[in-house]
Amino acid sequence: MSTAGFNSQNGTGTGQAYVNGPSQNPVGLQQLPGVSYGMTHQPTYNPMQAKAPAPPVTGLYPSGPYQPVHPVSSYQPGQSLLTRPLIGGPPSHTPPQSASPGPRLPPAQTTPPPSAVSSSSYYPNPRQPQPMAPAWHYNTAPPPMGQPTSMSIPPHGPVPNHVNPAASSTPSSAPYSSAPPAHVSHSVTQPPGPGMPPTSLHGYTQPGPAPPPMTHMAPHTYQPSRAPYGPPPTCPPPTMKPTPPPTGTLMANATPPPPKADAGLPQPGPPGRHLGHYPSLPPGYQNTSALHNAGPPMHPAMQAATQPYTQPPQTYQQPPGGPGPAQLSPSLAALSLQSSTPEALRVVNLLQERNLLPPSPMPAPTPCLPQDLQKINCNPEVFRSTLTSIPQTQSLLNKAKMPLGLLLHPFKDLSQLPVVTSSTIVRCRSCRTYINPFVSFLDQRRWKCNLCYRVNDVPEEFMYNPVSRSYGEPHKRPEVQNATIEFIAPSEYMLRPPQPAVYLFILDVSHNAVETGYLNVFCQSLLDNINALPGDSRTKVGFITFDSTIHFYNLQEGLSQPQMLIVSDIEDIFLPTPDSLLVNLNECKELVQDLLTSLPNLFEKTMETQSALGSALQAAFKLLSPTGGRMSIFQTQLPNLGVGALQSREDPNQRASAKDIQHLSPATDFYKKLALDCSGQQVAVDLFLLSSQYCDLASLGCISRYSAGSVYYYPSYHHQHNPAQVECFQKDLKRYLTRKIGFEAVMRIRCTKGLSIHTFHGNFFVRSTDLLSLPNVNPDAGFAVQMSIEENLDDMQVVSFQAALLYTSSKGERRIRVHTLCLPVVNSLADIFAGADVQAITGLLACMAVDRSATASLSDARDAMTNAAIDSLTSYRQSVLTIQQPGLLAPACLRLFPLFILALLKQKAFRTGTSTRLDDRLFAMCQLKYQPLVYALLMIHPALYRVDDLTDEGALNINDRTIPQPRVLQLSVEKLSREAAFLMDAGTVMYLWIGRNCHPNFLTQVLGVPNYAAVPDNLYLLPELDTAESQRTRAFIGWLRDQRPFFPSLHVIRDESQLKPTFMQNMIEDRTESALSYYEFLLHLQQQISK
Ligand SMILES: [Zn+2]
Repeated sequence: MSTAGFNSQNGTGTGQAYVNGPSQNPVGLQQLPGVSYGMTHQPTYNPMQAKAPAPPVTGLYPSGPYQPVHPVSSYQPGQSLLTRPLIGGPPSHTPPQSASPGPRLPPAQTTPPPSAVSSSSYYPNPRQPQPMAPAWHYNTAPPPMGQPTSMSIPPHGPVPNHVNPAASSTPSSAPYSSAPPAHVSHSVTQPPGPGMPPTSLHGYTQPGPAPPPMTHMAPHTYQPSRAPYGPPPTCPPPTMKPTPPPTGTLMANATPPPPKADAGLPQPGPPGRHLGHYPSLPPGYQNTSALHNAGPPMHPAMQAATQPYTQPPQTYQQPPGGPGPAQLSPSLAALSLQSSTPEALRVVNLLQERNLLPPSPMPAPTPCLPQDLQKINCNPEVFRSTLTSIPQTQSLLNKAKMPLGLLLHPFKDLSQLPVVTSSTIVRCRSCRTYINPFVSFLDQRRWKCNLCYRVNDVPEEFMYNPVSRSYGEPHKRPEVQNATIEFIAPSEYMLRPPQPAVYLFILDVSHNAVETGYLNVFCQSLLDNINALPGDSRTKVGFITFDSTIHFYNLQEGLSQPQMLIVSDIEDIFLPTPDSLLVNLNECKELVQDLLTSLPNLFEKTMETQSALGSALQAAFKLLSPTGGRMSIFQTQLPNLGVGALQSREDPNQRASAKDIQHLSPATDFYKKLALDCSGQQVAVDLFLLSSQYCDLASLGCISRYSAGSVYYYPSYHHQHNPAQVECFQKDLKRYLTRKIGFEAVMRIRCTKGLSIHTFHGNFFVRSTDLLSLPNVNPDAGFAVQMSIEENLDDMQVVSFQAALLYTSSKGERRIRVHTLCLPVVNSLADIFAGADVQAITGLLACMAVDRSATASLSDARDAMTNAAIDSLTSYRQSVLTIQQPGLLAPACLRLFPLFILALLKQKAFRTGTSTRLDDRLFAMCQLKYQPLVYALLMIHPALYRVDDLTDEGALNINDRTIPQPRVLQLSVEKLSREAAFLMDAGTVMYLWIGRNCHPNFLTQVLGVPNYAAVPDNLYLLPELDTAESQRTRAFIGWLRDQRPFFPSLHVIRDESQLKPTFMQNMIEDRTESALSYYEFLLHLQQQISK
């Protein structure tokens, strides 16, 4: 068992993957004006026709002899079934998957080579064992601590990846040794991606047409007042810009590493039920210094402005001698306890300071940048780094022992988004970076790329500013004023006409499904929202239902009612009437509505218990392949028939066993392979799992994971027995059906030369080294990437990261959303620590640990997380603190790190010794990888508030509603009181805990019951009472809910409630039979650190 950190195993090679060089396929499809690509031959786009050599179509089936057609209304379960037509074999209406009709998006290897489709590794390196990761090494491996199961640390064997400073700045050559070193190339021309004709890259510099051709669509927040980053007019190089030699050159990794495939999910675990012991705290540990860290309570918003980063901006003034970073970031290493220590580095003795939580949710730290830069920097909710100060070298990063990575929420719903329409999108000729606020203008006609430092010409068109309607101020263009911006792409960004919005619903109608009653809710939700589905006049919809057979619905215009077509040959699935199964929503709306109205009754009496999900998916894939689109699967049981059939792998008796958890990886690669096929055809698959039984989410989840879909999970869903779940499902469905959606998307993340991105986390397929294939993108999806430093960043003061998401909107527009983040480079450990973002670090670690659980084991992942805390605090103690003192010391900015690590160890995804259903664990793992950081953090460390004494003091006022702002409390029963009521917000679920002696006022005024005994058992809705207390409580809960895109259910619980153990399990600071208390955990860390 390795005690090393994550790098050696978590998936993919960490080797040098991406050297942000001239990308071969910059965000997909950029191409030059006038150059036509191979894929655009088709003069007109007709998705339906596009199917390969169109075989005879309509008419054939409906009237054929073998083809009983059932008007939906006359269907009886068990009625006659269609079988494959005898004559001439199966209608080969569905094109072979590779012969896709229209050109598919990026031509590159859309379909991964078979070898990549291994189910056991994330980004398998086709050739070689995992390279040693440069990014994050541990050389400390504390021995077991002789305590309960959880915290023990394996003895330390040969650790594969010791810190090796010497190697650190050398791009690790292991994995892709055939690639030339990063800095080699010279050519400006770039090997075109497969399918792309070679081109020289001059297109973008041609003087454009006349000045004013651009229109802007949403002139939101331009800040004309800000000086451009690097003033336009004449030469003096912009102040802060590093001025590396303008070699026009560039990095080139001509041969990028092979595409990565990703892979298996983690494995499962055991049961046990412990809890309930609330040891009292050791003496001397009670509320030592309450107010310390956080200062007086204030609102998050305000806090954000006044956060820790107190380093003076003069830090960045150009020293006379030139831009040496050494002068720029005065070393803070000497700081220890002096009063001048920035707040972030204030020394905190964790063993003495107890109340470490800020009173309200923590804002992201602010990078230490000059104010004018920071003012326009990307919003941390969208783009955030684990270290807000980037170490100058890999060896420095290795010393800090903190993971370096980015967390993104690229398609987040934004209240303000500047949108630009332009025939020329200005990008770096060398590395294809989009012009952004952090480039420098050498003069009015030239700008220098902030990623590769190439000097580019400013196109004529760009000289006109549509906002100010003036000429000659390129630095005031919206592109240079906004770190987040969206372009409406010109035709070069399309390889085929943008696809229409296509939605296919695949519904489980087995006996089990009907029993849950979900079908009613689904049909009603879709009926209610049918006009709100994102789309335009081309939008198409279709439906498939299945049990042991597959049922299609002919919805062709002109029919008097929907026709049901049943295919019983599930081994070799075919589409009965390929042209009338996906129909134009506008033209066929009435038939669709008819179907939705009759569907719930149609299967009411079914006794069919089997589930041929795999075949239904294959059918759905055939149906969607020609256009791409979205599949939504509703499944209520373990698929047990035909392809993709699964067997139960969970032994309920083992749920709490301390042994390692098994079955965190998929049982079959069927779902992954199908997902990759889907991805290749621009189809994403979303899975709604509603089940009370084990469904093998480890296997089923792959269908969404690799196709960039989402997974929703409603354990124990039942329309009568579980009303809270029903409400949740309804709200989630509404959001799901109506939220924004992007089709046929790709995302590329670039970073300044010298930095390299390797491992990706989220739901997607990695098509080439740095290009994520996202058949659908939704506003609720988060992503994370890990990075390493391949070349010293010596002469740089800042580095930038740019995420570009190219997608087709539901209205058929090709759009590009670009986010650019700028961060300072520092050369001292103290500065690195001062810039640590403990929330982002925790989020990234969680992703890494999920991978590690699958590729190694759960216990290995747990050890690595504990080591993460030990290593970083050891490094801090040894290299930053100059005055040693006893205790467990952390810089203020990392004071919550041990708590968050302990929270992760106790989280459903990673806990041991506590009975945890395998699917629950897997779902928690999915969420940690997929959710945007802010929501993942609530799952890890819920927020606890006392709510029986809410007041208006310090309340927010939003739209004339007063929102009380109670203080966040520590997660310990010590904080609970029988006389009070507490709300625990765990992200996707909330608990309202009522103390046995809760003040009657709260019971009557908020819950509407006379006394404690009268609180109903399954209360999940607060009554709308006309009392101040009720209004405050509901306003607060409503406000919390409004801040997230999903609907957290609320459970009111008492001592007797079944859910009480779940609530108590979230009391992270307390000890349980199987896990340490926070204080014990700290002692454990201290013991390891002082070794
Ligand atoms: Zn560039």
